[in-house]
Amino acid sequence: MATLAQVELKNEVKTKEPISKGPVIAVEEVHKYYDLGETKVHALRGVDLTIEPGEFVAIMGSSGSGKSTFMNMLGCLDKPSSGKYILESTDVSSLDKKQLAAIRNRKLGFVFQGFNLLSRTTALENVELPTLYAQMEKDKRMARAKEVLELVGLGERLDHFPSQLSGGQQQRVAIARALVNRPAILLADEPTGNLDSRTSVEIMQIFQDLNDSGLTIVLVTHEPDIAQFAKRMVVFRDGKIRHDDPVRNRPRAAEVLKTLPGIDED
Ligand code: ADP
Ligand code: MG
Repeated sequence: MATLAQVELKNEVKTKEPISKGPVIAVEEVHKYYDLGETKVHALRGVDLTIEPGEFVAIMGSSGSGKSTFMNMLGCLDKPSSGKYILESTDVSSLDKKQLAAIRNRKLGFVFQGFNLLSRTTALENVELPTLYAQMEKDKRMARAKEVLELVGLGERLDHFPSQLSGGQQQRVAIARALVNRPAILLADEPTGNLDSRTSVEIMQIFQDLNDSGLTIVLVTHEPDIAQFAKRMVVFRDGKIRHDDPVRNRPRAAEVLKTLPGIDED
């Protein structure tokens, strides 16, 4: 039988978790090796990074510097070879595949360069999809999907298929899909890579608005013009962080848009 002290300790740990105010992401001394049989690629070489709630971080660096390897780890798609990754006080390094999938669905939202929408499925259905794994009733799921589509300005296009939407609109559907389960963090890997300049800034306006309302965002980009909309810039080289600085004179995407020609004008 558990002693009173043990029971108290257990309760304390239980009640403490939701109100813990620590960093959302804490990465300590992380190394990642890809084993290619004869050779090993040392893709991350001792990375330390802490991200607090409400930050907006841009990850930069040339091709092969380790950005995607690092994002895959943050996204719980892959685990470090050594070192620690703590996501909202959960030590991810110790979880198995099933637990990783669960934490991914509950805590993280993903946006990719290629939108990755299901083509025979409407905007609304695409956004509703991740809620199928959450414990939610049908009409609640639908309402929630509508709400996030309205948030990204697509309230009028719920029944459109991806082929009936522009690239920028498809990316907004993907952002809505990423938000529908109310993630703690939004992870975006080159989200503007397939978009023209004006549409890219429009997407950054959505990111800045979401960040203003408290969402933590980590964004990978190789474009300095896009990175400047974040609050903090982290630069990778050869598997290590070489620079980590706040962005000075950060522009507001909404203001920049006023200086760009409209789609009809150019
Ligand atoms: P970036 O996203 O900055 O271009 P990556 O993280 O994709 O960089 O790659 C970092 C290094 O790890 C590169 O040398 C790359 O070739 C290697 N690498 C990435 N993914 C794999 C993999 N799945 N298997 C083997 N090597 C990989
Ligand atoms: Mg990459």
